[in-house]
Amino acid sequence: MKPKCYHCKKEVSNKDDLCPHCGTNLKSRRKALGIGCGLFVFIIVAMASLAFLSDDDTTPELTAEQKRTQKIEKCFSAWDGSQINLTNRIKSSLNDEDSYKHIETTYIDKDSVLYVQTIFSAKNGFGGTIKQTVIVETNLNCEITDVVQWIQ
Ligand SMILES: [Zn+2]
Repeated sequence: MKPKCYHCKKEVSNKDDLCPHCGTNLKSRRKALGIGCGLFVFIIVAMASLAFLSDDDTTPELTAEQKRTQKIEKCFSAWDGSQINLTNRIKSSLNDEDSYKHIETTYIDKDSVLYVQTIFSAKNGFGGTIKQTVIVETNLNCEITDVVQWIQ
């Protein structure tokens, strides 16, 4: 269906800035419609996010298990999964802290403790880059309670 001039209702082309029949400026009307659409979308999005936010208030209490999981997740970087305290511990042991490169961190959940394994690379005292694996035991407050293994 071809667009029609909103003024004289005759057929016009999308390319016409002015209606060829009555000379009405179609361009300004199109622009106004565009802004109107944008505003409409904005309002919908705003309402949707408000609905989302207020939804949060009615969310039932987290279960103990969910709270525990959240607590554990706080020990790990959302960015690369590294354990924050372990990263600091490793860096403080290095000759060249700036050469530290995190590769991968995994953990095993053993109820009251976590076994956290981090693989990283760093420069040794001779300037060579080597890969190392550290396994530590942490409590649920992210604190390192024991260094289980440090493989170079
Ligand atoms: Zn017209």
